Amino acid sequence: MPATPSDLARLDRDHHLHPFTDPKVLQEDAPIVMAGGKDSTLWDEDGKLYLDALAGLWCVNVGYGRTELAEVAAAQMERLAYYNTFFKTTTAPTAALAAKLAELMPDGLDHVVFANSGSEALDTIVRFCRLFWELKGQPDKKVMIGREEGYHGSTLATISLGGTLAMQAQGGLPLAGFAHVDTAYQFRHGAPGESAEAFAERAAGWIEEKILELGADTVAGVVVEPVQGAGGVIIPPPGYLARVQEICRRHDVLFALDEVVSAFGRLGAWSAAERFGLAPDFMALAKGLSSGYQPISAVMIGSRVAETLIEKSGGLAHGFTYAGHPVAAAVALANLQIIERENLIGRVRDDLSDHFAAALSRLADQPMVGEVRSLGLIGAVELVQQRDPKILYDPEGLVGAVVRDQMQSRGVIVRAVRDALVIAPPLVVTHREIDRIADTLRLVLDDILEQIGVVGDDRALAEITAGGNA
Ligand code: PLP
Repeated sequence: MPATPSDLARLDRDHHLHPFTDPKVLQEDAPIVMAGGKDSTLWDEDGKLYLDALAGLWCVNVGYGRTELAEVAAAQMERLAYYNTFFKTTTAPTAALAAKLAELMPDGLDHVVFANSGSEALDTIVRFCRLFWELKGQPDKKVMIGREEGYHGSTLATISLGGTLAMQAQGGLPLAGFAHVDTAYQFRHGAPGESAEAFAERAAGWIEEKILELGADTVAGVVVEPVQGAGGVIIPPPGYLARVQEICRRHDVLFALDEVVSAFGRLGAWSAAERFGLAPDFMALAKGLSSGYQPISAVMIGSRVAETLIEKSGGLAHGFTYAGHPVAAAVALANLQIIERENLIGRVRDDLSDHFAAALSRLADQPMVGEVRSLGLIGAVELVQQRDPKILYDPEGLVGAVVRDQMQSRGVIVRAVRDALVIAPPLVVTHREIDRIADTLRLVLDDILEQIGVVGDDRALAEITAGGNA
């Protein structure tokens, strides 16, 4: 192993192409080499400390440095490092985790297919939606409906399902058989004076219109993230998700929730389905399932689909070598035990979510802040060039990137999505740490405001964002 942090950064620069990063930028800007972590704190190889206000990539729910999980992994590796779950074999942790997920997730979601990543889970959902209708004698029901700014992963099918145009632009996507509608993003799509309830109804209507336009006999399923994470923490208005579910039922279209971010406590419940009283046909789980300590994901399958697959498929021609991997499953089980034992979900629901919402709300009077939103322990502070009437920055994303970088220089890691700073700390975060995230953001925004003088001064803005990399 190379000795110094700069050696490591050089090796990385010379040989490693990073996800979602311009390789040219990394030629000049050495990557930070993260070295360790405890609870919500990370440190890099130079010894600099960071408060991780994004829980890795919204996944380290139980926080860093859980020795217990390392011990469980080591013990399972010694006992049985690997065996497959193809054909007619399983392992003890795999079977126990399947049963545990059936217990924790809402009634009717009693069967599970394992995979290794969120992308694979969503890819599986796309395939099984189509398979379900084939088995029902309706093979023309193939189209999957996703939403603008939706993020479901980086495989060909999940990029096609998602609504990130920059991803679709690379590699000639989307594939055929995917359709998209605008999302329930009231900050952008709400009409002046429109109530959240009225907007929910209107936004859900876009899905119904798309089903009718395509013909329900061609649509296999609708997939939504309950809270759109990578899209900028877009929180649905009350009633929206239930209305989408009802529309799917009425048109005989399968309804799938991508709970890769929202499950395992992030919203103060085991799942968004539980929190909002939903009964999806599919649910994708990943990230918080193991708190990122092992790569593992799962698709929960509702009874109607499960019965059809069991009765009629004649064998599922589908599977991954590491599906239900015993070490990953053992770690996931131990991670779920920590969430239960430490009542992390109750903590988010009854304590942290209010403190988090209040801390972010204190930023609402900062002139660059256009909206503050949060649900459970996920939130966003969206910046605007002018508040009233609302003018977004153009081009988008440069100011957000500057704010993110300045936060990082001050030791707080957040992510910028366009000009929204998105925040989702580990569920073990303290009140003081939440306050520090909000206070640091206030300092950074006030500093920038001072530099640009008046909000909306384009020349000053261009100067501070020069060379910015969104
Ligand atoms: N779905 C959602 C909602 C996500 O946020 C992500 C990743 O961030 C994925 C799917 C893809 O998961 P993975 O990166 O593990 O493939």
